[in-house]
Amino acid sequence: MGGENPIRIQSMTNTSTMDTDGSIRQCIRIIEAGGEYVRLTAQGVREAENLRAVEEGLHALGYHTPLIADIHFNPKIAETAAQIVEKVRINPGNFADPVKTFQTFEYSDEEYRQEVEKIRERFIPFLAICKKHNTAIRIGVNHGSLSDRIMSRYGDTPQGMVESCMEFLRICVLENFTNVVISIKASNTFTMVQTVRLLVEQMDEEGMNFPLHLGVTEAGDGEDGRIKSAVGIGTLLLEGIGDTVRVSLSEDPEAEIPVARLLVDYATHRSSTSPPTPLHMERGAGLLPASFLAVHNDVPLVFSDRLQTTDYSTNADLVPDYFYTGSLTINDTSLFALSLSELTDETIEYLKSNPQVIILLHAEDNNVYEQKECVFILRSNHVTNKIILWNTYDESDLETFQIKAATDCGSFFLDRLTDGLMLSNKNLKITPQTIDACSFGILQATGRRISKTEYISCPSCGRTLFDLQLAIKKVKAATSHLKGLKIAIMGCIVNGPGEMADADYGYVGVGAGKVSLYKGRECILKNIPEENAVDELLRLITTSNDVKK
Ligand code: SF4
Repeated sequence: MGGENPIRIQSMTNTSTMDTDGSIRQCIRIIEAGGEYVRLTAQGVREAENLRAVEEGLHALGYHTPLIADIHFNPKIAETAAQIVEKVRINPGNFADPVKTFQTFEYSDEEYRQEVEKIRERFIPFLAICKKHNTAIRIGVNHGSLSDRIMSRYGDTPQGMVESCMEFLRICVLENFTNVVISIKASNTFTMVQTVRLLVEQMDEEGMNFPLHLGVTEAGDGEDGRIKSAVGIGTLLLEGIGDTVRVSLSEDPEAEIPVARLLVDYATHRSSTSPPTPLHMERGAGLLPASFLAVHNDVPLVFSDRLQTTDYSTNADLVPDYFYTGSLTINDTSLFALSLSELTDETIEYLKSNPQVIILLHAEDNNVYEQKECVFILRSNHVTNKIILWNTYDESDLETFQIKAATDCGSFFLDRLTDGLMLSNKNLKITPQTIDACSFGILQATGRRISKTEYISCPSCGRTLFDLQLAIKKVKAATSHLKGLKIAIMGCIVNGPGEMADADYGYVGVGAGKVSLYKGRECILKNIPEENAVDELLRLITTSNDVKK
């Protein structure tokens, strides 16, 4: 992994790691689907030791795909796993720091230094074991599971997440341990993208260049999970950032692999066939000067291309702002189709003297780099006209359409470069209403236009003791009308409450058949029977004052 190697794709089992046969069978399904690494959770030393049986079972069947142990809270477990599997993921938020309390403590500089020193004392013996066994590590930071110490000094900020990672990386460098990959994940794509860019910048500043694992955590399932993942991961891949990818879907783990494959192949193809313009050659070049940000701070518009149809029906809740029928006039406002190759001094002057004209920004093969160059030239010349990003595809498969469109368009909205979106598809197999849903989905995934309930759900893992996919279905059926609310459905009480981040409400599995319900960070109902949990959640939401209509 890393350097000139291909971008690797991976997934994680959700079987109990003590269930050797079940875990082996699931690893094989992931590998057969094309997974290049398989991660398994090890919540205790027993589970870590059983990784040997899983690995041996796989080897006996001819599978030698590298295995990764996922460790939280206990360096001893990490040390055990490091002697068995090829890679160990640790979480800097809980490797050596005490269990998170969500309280704010005051640290003097000296106390803070002493805490960091404690990390060194716990981390260096682990590195020695990894060196001896040639085991790689992933330093995997998650938004929402930062330690109290980092939270107290930096808050729940991108800087806090970057520093949490850098503290461990600096120790690796001092110890001459380079078998490291790093990740910073969040369920909010804006936070995830900005933080990874910041991490890349910080590494560059400190002369480091470690490979990056990309992922949007708790992305959910179905269309939303795919679009959210493509927005976050795709944006960074197009900037040349990322060496391995996990798409976290609340579905069977092997279902993640084709999505990751599609995403990686598309982003790799895009960056090799339409190389970034000089403005975008550098890693992390998405960090933009504030002067380039969209001049309009309005909610982005959705244009629906109905040029090939006379069907003007819409989805009930996702009604586009305009139908595009080929007419270049909307009310009194003209539309002006523009690509980089058509941009001349005369065009700039025309647009400046007609600021009400709306630009439809397109490019051959939806070349994002050219489109960005065009935005930069326009905005640096003080052209203030609204810019609608207009991409055209020719896909018969909806998933492919969603992933390509979300990969290409995500950064334009995360970075507030454009003021609206029009997606076209030459193949009529995908209906205009479905395309509209994809446009709204991209805007929701970037946090720019909220048109439905947002679900944050983890992919589940060996810690999950209930049927998470079924719980998600039930929660969605009961709450999908609550537009604007963020509802988390999490598989375990250990990491769930921390990692559901900024959700308004949380449905968190505690054990077999038991659920706890949260309002924000506060646990309101503890250990209630699973069969009543959805009704109780709905009651909790409707009796709270903050239901957004
Ligand atoms: S929240 Fe818990 S169950 Fe869900 S993936 Fe994370 S550790 Fe596993």
